[in-house]
Amino acid sequence: MRAEFPEFRLGSVLATSFTATLTERRGDAVERIPTPRRLVDWLAVEGLAVDSCTNSQLDRARELREAIHAAATAAALQDPLPAAAVRVINDCSVEGRAAAVLTPEGKRQWRLSSASRVEDALGVIAADAIDLIAGERDGKLALCASPSCRAAFFDTSQSRTRKWCDMNTCGNRQKKARFTASRRKGA
Ligand SMILES: [Zn+2]
Repeated sequence: MRAEFPEFRLGSVLATSFTATLTERRGDAVERIPTPRRLVDWLAVEGLAVDSCTNSQLDRARELREAIHAAATAAALQDPLPAAAVRVINDCSVEGRAAAVLTPEGKRQWRLSSASRVEDALGVIAADAIDLIAGERDGKLALCASPSCRAAFFDTSQSRTRKWCDMNTCGNRQKKARFTASRRKGA
């Protein structure tokens, strides 16, 4: 991993891991796929390996990412879905030609139509977002409680009361802030 780039925030849900390639959206935003190469790296980690990516494919990926963020945020707030975002998600889903295949070990793998088809990988991500937003999976879309984040995440906790997109970053920071505040009060 090259140190000059921000590390990835990987979760267990593909579509929201993808939207988490831009973090601290309401604060000092951190772009975690600043170059086509970093998108290639991210896709490889998510089992969607491609051998190249152009600048325009990166632009398309970021367009999809922001569309998913907008639609997932609206879904979490139970607002009407923004039409432009829905269009981008649907177009990406339709353009993708990836196929799910089963490995001998019984695992699902994605097979892209060619190794330069970033669009196929985006199609898989778009379809995952559609599943989440349409309520096809067990869980609930929610917004991170951190005011500088407000990321949409998929809450699969039994009580559906998860507050932060990520316990190790947003959750931890909040806990530390509360601890410091209470110590100050005590002193
Ligand atoms: Zn967060």
